[in-house]
Amino acid sequence: MTHPTHTTASENGGRDASRQTAAVVARPHSTQPGFADLHLHTLFSDGTFTPEELAQAGARHGLVAMALTDHDTVEGCSRMEQACGGLGIEFISGSELTAELEDTELHIIGYFMDCQNRRLQSELQKFQMARQSRVHEMVARLNELNIPLRAETVFALANCRSPGRPHVGRALVQEGFCSSQDEAFERFLKKNRPAWVPKHKISALDAIALIGQAGGLAVMAHPGLNRSDQIIPALVEQGLDGIECFHTKHSAATSEHYLRIAAQHNLLVTGGSDCHGYSKGKPLIGGTKLPGVYLAKLKQAAMEKQRPSAAVPHAPPPPVSAPD
Ligand code: AMP
Ligand code: ZN
Ligand code: FE
Ligand code: FE
Repeated sequence: MTHPTHTTASENGGRDASRQTAAVVARPHSTQPGFADLHLHTLFSDGTFTPEELAQAGARHGLVAMALTDHDTVEGCSRMEQACGGLGIEFISGSELTAELEDTELHIIGYFMDCQNRRLQSELQKFQMARQSRVHEMVARLNELNIPLRAETVFALANCRSPGRPHVGRALVQEGFCSSQDEAFERFLKKNRPAWVPKHKISALDAIALIGQAGGLAVMAHPGLNRSDQIIPALVEQGLDGIECFHTKHSAATSEHYLRIAAQHNLLVTGGSDCHGYSKGKPLIGGTKLPGVYLAKLKQAAMEKQRPSAAVPHAPPPPVSAPD
């Protein structure tokens, strides 16, 4: 795993710590135009917007760039790219992968990946098959609780390859078994509730490597929700490229905290609303915006990574004379 434009703290032995910490103080340059939202979901996972509706919402909020980060899928990316293109919005492909480290669930977002990459496609297919089996398991548990929900109802409502608990919750509401999504989670779907089924996860190391081999940048999503900063050095060691400092559920103080951590470890800074459309009340898009200066750095890092020479950064020097 390489870092074309930035070294990790472990690589530089922490020598630049004071200079890096000082970088926190430097605010985005005022001449860097525009804002981006780099954490967004559509109905290709558990959001409620189509890619076209999401792009239009981004345009209304004046976004200059948007990334699609549906859970464990890149299926919506081509439509979103087209929709953004038609509105003059820059599009960045992405996916929010379900990962774990030391028994902590982590969401690792891959940006700028080649969506056709074969290993990526094959891993995403495994995630999606597991998500579909999980729906069957959750429904079976509900049936044991005398809730006669049918898996077909959930799949028809989800109408995507990457279904999750919100779809089961919506089906419970639609069929009149619960009066709200909140009730569905509280009674059945939250962790350790009777219909909760753990999700298929890959190790954080595997997620970072998978994203890297597909030419992408690996970013730890919403670290403030994990409250496990102690794992960040290990992720950096494993090749993490960036950290999501700005997120709907981060307070200003939390964002500042992770900006400091990003500077300490020389990580890229990202941010987004984590908008799921209307699935959690009001759409969150536009509420959390990444300043353009961070977007520019992210794009620069992706370009560096995808340069042909970046693929073999530590290649041995060519032999002096060609072998026979
Ligand atoms: P899954 O990936 O299937 O485990 O589902 C995760 C999704 O469920 C995320 O989008 C969460 O924000 C959402 N979620 C988790 N808890 C709740 C809740 N209490 N009410 C509504 N959505 C929730
Ligand atoms: Zn979600
Ligand atoms: Fe997440
Ligand atoms: Fe998300």
